[in-house]
Amino acid sequence: MAPQTVPCQYKTGKTLGSGTYAVVKECVHITTGEYFACKVLNKKFLVGREHMVRNEINVLKRVSAGHKNIVSLHDFFETTHNLYLVFDLCTGGELFDRICQRGSYYEKDAAGIVRTVTSAVKYLHDQGIVHRDLKPENILFKSKAEDAELMLADFGLSKVLDEDNFSILTTTCGTPGYMAPEIFRKAGHGKPVDIWAIGVITYFLLCGYTPFDRDSQYEEMQAICAGDYKFEPAEYWAGVSETAKQFVRDCLTIDPTNRPTASQLLDHQWLHTEVDHVDLLP
Ligand code: ADP
Ligand code: MG
Repeated sequence: MAPQTVPCQYKTGKTLGSGTYAVVKECVHITTGEYFACKVLNKKFLVGREHMVRNEINVLKRVSAGHKNIVSLHDFFETTHNLYLVFDLCTGGELFDRICQRGSYYEKDAAGIVRTVTSAVKYLHDQGIVHRDLKPENILFKSKAEDAELMLADFGLSKVLDEDNFSILTTTCGTPGYMAPEIFRKAGHGKPVDIWAIGVITYFLLCGYTPFDRDSQYEEMQAICAGDYKFEPAEYWAGVSETAKQFVRDCLTIDPTNRPTASQLLDHQWLHTEVDHVDLLP
């Protein structure tokens, strides 16, 4: 797909969110009236790597329609200063905000969310793509409905954007809370970092706070490298099953070579636990 040079086919509207490198705006295709989300990426972040970004965008375009829980890339174009990526519009907001609103999720609901996310991650891994930035801010709901489909966003480009740009990642984005220990050791990392992040997300869903939250980023990094977390305070974990805790422990295995793959995780007992149906009405 050759990029267009003038973004004339879309009209941009309100800002939907912003992240480490981009601003995301609602946009409408002028002739079809169809709504999308347009990610505006400032080229100053891409100096010397623009060709790599274009390659990566082509990969995303090729794979992004392949899984129903992955935000599809529809189009891209560029101006002198910016790159514009046009994605499926998700109107239901971030998983992060829903966790914050609800406090935490019931185990059954958490397992459903984690199963969907793991299945989408398995698809990406099968395509040779590592997400690298899995966190509840990058998991979106397709609509405002309570049971809306979950959509994985913000994947693929980090491979290019974060290369030798580690300081941007740790300083600008504010929290290394979802990063795997091998990222800090800078000894090379790949697909297992996504599994670690699934462990952190699962912990967060179950209790409403993250496992390595510390007073400073340095302490947080030390806790991650030592795998220093607990299922505490006890009152937050009282109703959580041992199987769920074991799922978190498996994902948070320090040695990436011993961490389960996405495929193995999908077979984990916790994602297949039958929950008894309780009839409250006579
Ligand atoms: P960054 O790489 O800068 O983190 P993201 O792709 O994560 O950028 O987008 C930043 C925010 O914009 C997201 O956290 C989300 O709130 C919003 N957003 C991103 N993509 C979409 C989309 N397809 N539909 C609706 N909102 C989106
Ligand atoms: Mg993001």
